[in-house]
Amino acid sequence: MLKFYNSLTRKIEDFKPISEDKIGLYTCGPTVYNYAHIGNLRTMLMADLLRRTLEYNGFKVNHVMNITDVGHLTSDGDTGEDKLEKNAHTLDEVQEVIKKYTDSFVSDLTALNIEPPSRMPKASEHIAQQIEMIRTLFEKDIAYESDDAVYFDVAKFPEYNKLTGQKLEDMMLGARQEVVKDPKKRNPVDFVLWFKTVGRYKNHIQRWISPWGEGFPGWHIECSAMSKKYLGDTFDIHAAGIDLKFPHNTNEIAQSESANGKKFANYWLHGEHLLVNEGKMAKSDGTLITLQDVIDKGFSPLAFRYLILTSHYRSKLNFSWESLQAAQNALNNLYQEISTFDPAKGSAKSFETEFANAIANDLDMPRAIATMWDLIKSEETTSAKLATLIKFDEIFGLKIKDVWTAAKVLPETVTKLVEEREIARKEKDFKKSDALRQAIESNGYILEDTVDGYKLKKKF
Ligand SMILES: [Zn+2]
Repeated sequence: MLKFYNSLTRKIEDFKPISEDKIGLYTCGPTVYNYAHIGNLRTMLMADLLRRTLEYNGFKVNHVMNITDVGHLTSDGDTGEDKLEKNAHTLDEVQEVIKKYTDSFVSDLTALNIEPPSRMPKASEHIAQQIEMIRTLFEKDIAYESDDAVYFDVAKFPEYNKLTGQKLEDMMLGARQEVVKDPKKRNPVDFVLWFKTVGRYKNHIQRWISPWGEGFPGWHIECSAMSKKYLGDTFDIHAAGIDLKFPHNTNEIAQSESANGKKFANYWLHGEHLLVNEGKMAKSDGTLITLQDVIDKGFSPLAFRYLILTSHYRSKLNFSWESLQAAQNALNNLYQEISTFDPAKGSAKSFETEFANAIANDLDMPRAIATMWDLIKSEETTSAKLATLIKFDEIFGLKIKDVWTAAKVLPETVTKLVEEREIARKEKDFKKSDALRQAIESNGYILEDTVDGYKLKKKF
């Protein structure tokens, strides 16, 4: 039985799917105005491990991840500029920004061996669905209009604080500190469903016609509208980074449950922060690290994936280049170990059970990784080890099978060097034979002489 910590109930719960056939999983995706940083990517890896765990347990998963390409302001609330339009002056420029950072995000997912979501709907392509939901909220007297915007009336949704567990007064305190200038706003914690392109947003580039005049949607409504379209009113699991719990996820629940009259998501999984120098990443102090920075420093993206596997998703992870180096070393050791294994056959049952229990227990990846190393050090045959590791890798995603296969294929240049060295050795030309051994090594292989001849090993 799978168990997850449900942020909504603040308890570990047995996972009971709505339907055994297919699990509905929604993840809040990126706002495509900049490169994703490794903190964002930790959240994406958490969702990937969740999805792979569901699949490992025999479920099919309909995984929807949105692309935010409109309406996310520089604050996560209702103030500031539209992040997308900050450095753009025309619609073409906005489209360029969207394309550039969506492409970069998708290539980060590929580099980290994250399974592509079943769908990645864009907010800007689902304006009709967002308008439709706001219209429903109006009909139910939960939305109201001012000269500047359409708001969600939080007083009409008494369970507004159920995800955060905070007192409503405390949530309001935070909202009051923002610069609120709209005299028609009823309550400081009310949030925007639709911005009218008037006042400070009169030059907003992306704009659509709506029953409330020209404008653009607030950030939160897109997730409610698109999850409804692709997963239905109620779906199984909603995953997100912990920083989105309030206001974003809180507002998603309020909008969806008010409009649909049904429960939104049954389980909420929130991934903890990745810290740099024990603090939140910030552009200003140079701690905003991208996957490209990781690659530029000579690390493999899968070393970052390995690092994420070594910490539980509900624990803060302090990133350092030293910890990444340790992850890279561990990954290289893993590859070195498996490269000499015999072809996969059989299985190591007790290790498989231990592994299955670890992942089923709220995605306990650190324990699953420990099980992997216990298996490697065990007395099992290398065939059974490899077969079992390939199974584990359905979750880990460290490309164990590919690496093992590639290690068995000797590049032609290395084969030639080995042959030349054999001749040199027979002719007792030790100087030449040593030079050839060096050449083999610089091609990534270690050659050792043994009593039975030579042994060749790929170097990781
Ligand atoms: Zn969202």
